[in-house]
Amino acid sequence: MTVQQELASLQSLQTLDLQNFSTQQELNDIPKAIKEKQQNVEFMRNLLQKDKGRLDEAENWRVETERDLQLQGDMLANSRNKLQAARNERENKAAQREIDSFRKRIADGEKEMLKILEAIEQCRLAYEEHAREFSELEAALHIEEENAKTRIAELQARVDDSAAERSSLAAKIDTPLLRRYERIQSRLGRALVEVVDGKCTGCHFTVLPQLLIELERGEKIISCTNCKRMLYLKPSEPADADNTDAGDTNADDANNTAN
Ligand SMILES: [Zn+2]
Repeated sequence: MTVQQELASLQSLQTLDLQNFSTQQELNDIPKAIKEKQQNVEFMRNLLQKDKGRLDEAENWRVETERDLQLQGDMLANSRNKLQAARNERENKAAQREIDSFRKRIADGEKEMLKILEAIEQCRLAYEEHAREFSELEAALHIEEENAKTRIAELQARVDDSAAERSSLAAKIDTPLLRRYERIQSRLGRALVEVVDGKCTGCHFTVLPQLLIELERGEKIISCTNCKRMLYLKPSEPADADNTDAGDTNADDANNTAN
């Protein structure tokens, strides 16, 4: 295999590895995003439970106050009977005092009842609002969970397919070179980089002139003296295309930046 063929094989391998890396990253990110949404739903569920607790509490308070008002009403009736049955001034006054006292308590109880009804209304509104938000969040979560399942299966299939493809690509490369590629790749992400304008595009270090000459000769694989990545030059254009060549280099620069 010529050096050019070796570099071409490494490049195919690198393209596959980079694709695999981003697939793997997406695979890792999906469960994190889902977990975050599940936490939001749980938060809303707790909030809703608290709202329900407050609503129940206010409702109990209303029932108690109603019962108390009923009781005061019964006692007021009782005092009125006493007043009617009063046989002297003393009994009359005593019954009147009781009536006044129950009337005051009933009036106070009725004022309290208004506050309670207002509180119930506020609790109910908060509860309904949060219940709506909760069911929206929960429905959205279900959809996202379904989409995530589909996407994960898709990505997993891609990973599985590329494993076979990678093995067959890797089998074509000499083991020491493959190991060297994998060492750099695992450390720096990209083991093979283009030289543009005499610089390593991996670390932007200027490639020594002697190495550039060797790189152009293409007799062996050259590494960047700074980052150790393996270097390649874009195959040269036909001799009469000097201007186009400059244009191409720029276009390629833009591609590198975009990548
Ligand atoms: Zn470098």
